[in-house]
Amino acid sequence: MVIVLESNIRDDDKQRIRRFLEKNSLRVNEIAGEEETIFGAVGKVGIDPREVEILPGVQRVIPISKPYKMASREFKRENTIVDVRGVKIGGNRVSVIAGPCAVESLDQIMESAAKVAESGAVMLRGGAYKPRTSPYAFQGMAEEGVRILKEAGEAYGLPIVTEIVSSDHIPVMRDYVDVLQIGARNMQNFELLKKVGALGKPVILKRGLSATIEEWLMAAEYLLASGTEDVILCERGIRTYEKATRNTLDLSAIPVLRSLTHLPIIVDPSHAVGVRDKVPPMALAAVAAGADGLIVEVHPCPECAMSDGAQSLYPEQFEKMMRDIEVLAPVVGRTVSRRTAAKTGHDRSGAKLEAKRAAGALALSGAAGPVVCAYSGGRGAYAEIAIRRFWDNGATALSAANFREVINAVLGGGADFGMLPIENSLAGSVYENYDNLTRCEDIEIVGEVTIRIEHSLLAPRGATVETVGSVYSHPQALAQCDEFLAKYPLWKHIETASTSGAAEMVAAEGDITRAAIASGSAADIYKLETLKSGIETNPRNYTRFVIIARSGEVVCEAPNHASVIFTTANEPGSLHAALGIFMKHGLNLTKLESRPIQGEPWRYRFYANVNLPDGVGNSVVSGERLKTALAEMEKISHDNGIVQGVRILGLFNTKELS
Ligand code: PEP
Ligand code: MN
Repeated sequence: MVIVLESNIRDDDKQRIRRFLEKNSLRVNEIAGEEETIFGAVGKVGIDPREVEILPGVQRVIPISKPYKMASREFKRENTIVDVRGVKIGGNRVSVIAGPCAVESLDQIMESAAKVAESGAVMLRGGAYKPRTSPYAFQGMAEEGVRILKEAGEAYGLPIVTEIVSSDHIPVMRDYVDVLQIGARNMQNFELLKKVGALGKPVILKRGLSATIEEWLMAAEYLLASGTEDVILCERGIRTYEKATRNTLDLSAIPVLRSLTHLPIIVDPSHAVGVRDKVPPMALAAVAAGADGLIVEVHPCPECAMSDGAQSLYPEQFEKMMRDIEVLAPVVGRTVSRRTAAKTGHDRSGAKLEAKRAAGALALSGAAGPVVCAYSGGRGAYAEIAIRRFWDNGATALSAANFREVINAVLGGGADFGMLPIENSLAGSVYENYDNLTRCEDIEIVGEVTIRIEHSLLAPRGATVETVGSVYSHPQALAQCDEFLAKYPLWKHIETASTSGAAEMVAAEGDITRAAIASGSAADIYKLETLKSGIETNPRNYTRFVIIARSGEVVCEAPNHASVIFTTANEPGSLHAALGIFMKHGLNLTKLESRPIQGEPWRYRFYANVNLPDGVGNSVVSGERLKTALAEMEKISHDNGIVQGVRILGLFNTKELS
């Protein structure tokens, strides 16, 4: 049964309820959720719920109607996110695990790891003990296989997944393997489930060859009841009368499971279809259907594979599949998980990042070495100017095609930081980036910078304002220069995707009738004449950029700003209660923005920026005030439902470079 506790329950009442349940032979799990704190109580003997309902501190008792208890959505409302050494499965991500069917040699597993890591896999798979239909088929490299799988995982910064077929192998696996896989053939090997669950490690539980969803969840219950909280369900195809594919991939299991359980759900399209060219379409279908991840067989030479070669992807096929998933994921509100350690075998970039971490996390100041910061647009874009000025020309600015690519560069380790515009003083918020920050749970804000935006009219050598007939620029820049443009009513205004793109295009054409509105820096970069600078109507034109990094990599010792996302209950005074916390701690609210929550019409998510008022200074002690206030916000989100889903986007310092 689920026991929902009163939001202001006293500690001794809580202990009394726990003791009562335990005395009645029930196992008690406390779950502090976003909306309420509950006790989950499961056991062999049932007790009358009314006996619990009358205990002080109990709000209500919900009997769990399903035979599986701890696996059920009734037991835990929020989705479980499994954290495997920093790689998360669940939430708004799509996490891809890849590697060969079996570990065959050191060279084979190293090459597999290199290829899958390069294309964006976040974990490495490989069987060391293979459950083969024929006793004469290759049975795996056993202990040696586990050891070299670990070696390959370490070399490329990938946690490892391998199948355990017998509890006799626990001593070999316990210290090496990050995620244990229970194969389809062992889904109902209950003794194995109990022993593996007791290790407390994350487990991938594959669906049995002919298992119903309920039988599968009962198997998950064995694992949960034995001691692990981290069970990942894996749909891998079931037996049907159809012979065209190895199994029949039951994608409808994803939405069905989603309502029955809080556990993350991944899909193995390789064992489902059994033929490699059918794998990528089913992988995409799984993502579209809401899978939290995939586990895919990839081999550097499928025709030489010792098992499952026919269903193993060539590395190039895997790369293409990953690129397609990258495009599809945002359509279903997800982002593709990226490795946080940019290790690439023996390559320098991984070592460089490790060195920076060892030097006390990545430092915004660049103290731990030169940094790479990605931005959207071409050379001369305002974000590039922000990067140059923020790091005083000490950072490498990496151009990306759009905001999403900036985030991908940061997640994938190609860039240490990203510079994203969040607000312009005249044009308002850049909503796309608010939504990007919400979606990407593995990104945080580590700094903020404001620069003044000054536009110039640029044209090829020989041009004058008299020769110009058309002006190219981003629509916002054209609008910001409307008074200047009004003086030349005959000019045609042509919109481009970016100001830097307009300058680049005008330079490439070399036509003195065409001019661009862009930054002064773009004139030097594209060798254009500045016909007039400072042409923006309102000189008080500023853009605020946020500097992003992978979560947990940059620590700001003495922050004076914080950015937080939260939702509130649809109740009188709920926003007031949330903001009251800032007031109580003497923090200044500098920005409050609301965005609709996708899929929940007329409900909104709030973005708040707070800072320490002038004079408080940015010392470690004053930074504590921000942390205390945010901790209180998180606490009230656990204790009552007024404020919900609190996510701290970052604690940082701001810089004005006007
Ligand atoms: C495997 O993943 O290597 C495997 C044997 O899968 P399944 O248990 O789904 O057949
Ligand atoms: Mn296989």
